Amino acid sequence: MTALTGQTLRANLKEQALLEEAMALAGWDQLTGMPQASGDFRAELQSYLASRYLAVATGEAAQELNKYFGQPTHLAELSTDDQALFKRFQSDYVRDASIPKAEYEAFQRLASQGQDAWTAARQADDYQLYAPVLAKLIQAKRQFIRYWRKDEATPYDVLLNQFEPGLTVDKLDRIFDQLKTGIADIRQQLKDDGVEPDASFLQRTVAVDKQRAYVWEAIQRLGYDAQKGRLDDTIHPFMQDLNRNDARITTRWSPNDYQMAILGVYHEAGHGLFAQNIDSKWDYTPFNKGIAMSIHESQSLFNEVMIGRSKDFWTSEFPRLQAAWPAALGDIELEQFYRGWMKTAPTLIRTEADPLTYPLHIIIRYEIEKALFNDDLPVADLEKLWNDKYEAYLGVRPDSALTGILQDIHWASGDFGYFPSYALGHLYAAQFLQAMEKELPVKDLLQAGNLAPLIAWRREHVWQYGASKTPAEILQTATGESLQPSYWLKLQTERYADVYQL
Ligand SMILES: [Zn+2]
Repeated sequence: MTALTGQTLRANLKEQALLEEAMALAGWDQLTGMPQASGDFRAELQSYLASRYLAVATGEAAQELNKYFGQPTHLAELSTDDQALFKRFQSDYVRDASIPKAEYEAFQRLASQGQDAWTAARQADDYQLYAPVLAKLIQAKRQFIRYWRKDEATPYDVLLNQFEPGLTVDKLDRIFDQLKTGIADIRQQLKDDGVEPDASFLQRTVAVDKQRAYVWEAIQRLGYDAQKGRLDDTIHPFMQDLNRNDARITTRWSPNDYQMAILGVYHEAGHGLFAQNIDSKWDYTPFNKGIAMSIHESQSLFNEVMIGRSKDFWTSEFPRLQAAWPAALGDIELEQFYRGWMKTAPTLIRTEADPLTYPLHIIIRYEIEKALFNDDLPVADLEKLWNDKYEAYLGVRPDSALTGILQDIHWASGDFGYFPSYALGHLYAAQFLQAMEKELPVKDLLQAGNLAPLIAWRREHVWQYGASKTPAEILQTATGESLQPSYWLKLQTERYADVYQL
């Protein structure tokens, strides 16, 4: 056996990264421009690349690396960076290798069936068409948890931990309880004493090419590097990073809903900013992508909510928007614009929710997932439970599965434990903003439209690390504290009190 070194490890990681990049490119193309008839060929390509990837990540060479550097004396031969990479490599290896190959492949097939059943159930608007496959997916995941579980307190903790290292049911219960109460209080106050804003001007027609021209220019002012990205049309918007010099974003458009495009593209550009600004020393390694979805989401939400819903920002940005679309906004005052922009109302659909009600959508999914994995909740009962919770938390009840339990694809793809990251992203974003305010005159900078210092702060404290730190580490070093939901609640309380003239 030839001697194993840091270079051997890096070479294996690079091969994994290159295969992932090829898969990502094929996946991006599938969702943006692939001819419809090409689906079978693309599935064949994807499945080939995935099997190659698995062979590199868990094959003989990977086993040797794992065995060799798994010994502390050999681990010490690596540089500090390479040691961190090995630990990540090892945990991925253990996760992938602890599932018997046949069971892993069966799960992949089930997930593919799950997505087909989900699509069919949506077409028929009938949850029961999808419930049997969902039950099998959950059963398979419960089995995986038995393979993965080490010292986690409950089965659902195992899943949480995979998306957000260190996160537990115990912590989340406390965070979400605080949020639930806080949001309910704010909403009650707005209902009792608030002045409802008029948001009708948000439905005025703005041609898609005009929307595109404005947002493309605006996100560059927010820091997105146009030389390292592009903007394409899709159905469910996403950011696809191939590497730090190629972080593509997508959106959907409606001539009568420009807010969707503005906030949606700000959001995806925030993901793109993260990807474009990771330190080059992590090229071709697993640290070049966001393991911690919550931190990634905190950066997209920083653009969308912390900046895109800030009155100070619109003080400088609204005149630009008005100049770009005089026919739609020429007669609207800044104050009027901002109040309409911030109007809050409960929705049935998570992705259409405003920032105040959004966490409630996540809390509902969290409570259901927790009941599925920790209390063996029967899958047939999910739809009713879903509807009951929407009524209790948001005051709206779905009258169809389409606007209820069938709205998200995550469970159909076998993804459980992922949703909480979305809500944590909101909380992290608010905490980053308040830490930034201690160091920078954020209010003045936003009012002046000078975003460069805010961009530099995020590069220094968040983006450069990629996935080399855990969310808890990034938060602690950037803000000096562990997660405090109170910053998010305080910000929302202040913003809505202003908008609703309390
Ligand atoms: Zn996002």
